[in-house]
Amino acid sequence: MPELPEVESIRRKLHEILQDRQIEKIEVLRDKSFLAFPMTGAEILNDVVLEVKRRAKILQIVLAGQRDLLIHLKMTGQLIFIDQDGQRAGGGHPSADWVDDLPGKHTRVIFYFMGGSRLFFNDMRVFGWIRSPLKTEVDREFVSYGPDINDPNLSVTYLLRQAARRSIPVKQFIMDNKVVCGVGNIYASESLFMTKINPQKSAKDISKKEMTALLQAMQQIIARATELGGTTFDGKYVGVDGFAGGFQNELQVYGREGLPCLRCGKPIAKIKQGGRGSFYCPVCQKT
Ligand SMILES: [Zn+2]
Repeated sequence: MPELPEVESIRRKLHEILQDRQIEKIEVLRDKSFLAFPMTGAEILNDVVLEVKRRAKILQIVLAGQRDLLIHLKMTGQLIFIDQDGQRAGGGHPSADWVDDLPGKHTRVIFYFMGGSRLFFNDMRVFGWIRSPLKTEVDREFVSYGPDINDPNLSVTYLLRQAARRSIPVKQFIMDNKVVCGVGNIYASESLFMTKINPQKSAKDISKKEMTALLQAMQQIIARATELGGTTFDGKYVGVDGFAGGFQNELQVYGREGLPCLRCGKPIAKIKQGGRGSFYCPVCQKT
């Protein structure tokens, strides 16, 4: 599943590439992938892209007209841009569609821009979606989300207040979008390892000192992963230039079950929390 660093690195690429492009045609190959889309699509035809923004893991393509485009990649979504000369850029779930001819069998929506470039929305497992709400409705999409992990206003005080009455494990707490957005499974494990906090510790028992260190670690790790284009595991596609991330080479604990802890040498453990795998060192991250 693309996490925040992968989505943010797609956003940065699309922001550069799509600015000032004018939508010529939209081809919807699977109706449900383009939710609440106006019947003809005419509302956003000829519209021009002003910028590409992001809130949590939702991409927001800001158009000059009355509507914007919101895109969520969910589990297996990809956005692949092919320019008029066949050059590719994009990212998302690693698969053969990164390199194969497009449209492919997982292509759900195609945007055609004036001048011959195209943007493909591919989604194998079809949990992803695109919407084109009115600008005035966009904020409503985000009401249930907490602040973004990159938000400079996000404070330790806020996190402590959110954690105060909550006995859920700290790992699930930091992954809760209502508390803070953008800390996915990989980066939660990495941040807790860096700060020597046990992932099973109750959120309400996290001290001010620990929360301060944890916030700093989360922001630092996610900034670094974003710089590297995120984390890509699929060995087959890890070398696809401009698409794959590089953070998999810097993981300290995630995916290292049974391997020696890089800090103390004892084996890394893996447990399940909220249906997700958590990796930690039982020695360095005592309860
Ligand atoms: Zn250790």
